[in-house]
Amino acid sequence: MRAPEELTERFRNLGLKVTPQRQGVFQALWGDDSHPTAEAIWGRVRETMPTVSLRTVYQVLNDLTDLGEINTVRLGSSPVRFDPNIDGHDHFVCEQCSRVFDVHAHAVVDLPEKHYPGFEVAATQIVFRGFCPDCARISAAAH
Ligand SMILES: [Zn+2]
Ligand SMILES: [Zn+2]
Repeated sequence: MRAPEELTERFRNLGLKVTPQRQGVFQALWGDDSHPTAEAIWGRVRETMPTVSLRTVYQVLNDLTDLGEINTVRLGSSPVRFDPNIDGHDHFVCEQCSRVFDVHAHAVVDLPEKHYPGFEVAATQIVFRGFCPDCARISAAAH
């Protein structure tokens, strides 16, 4: 994702609305590697702008996703998360605290064409599940 000032510029150039609320969402996302949900971002923006609506937050997130500035991360049945890091990477999900970490997996995943004729792969994403170092420590200490 571009820096908030550059995003403001880009939105203006594209004729998209730029309001303090929208800029608040840019700011809340900038440098965030926690893969927040829309609600989490909303909570953060509301600390300084109590009147911002969840709807506005969703609109900005959708615009940013359409522009390729952020990625959506879907992890099973949990609510969709947003990722300002758009460099190719995979995710590790902690089953205890639900935090999501960026990881770089070294694997080549191939869908064998002979088993799946006609399918075209657009993207692959590897999701690792387990315990983060904090949770692994706690569970080790409990035993
Ligand atoms: Zn954890
Ligand atoms: Zn990520």
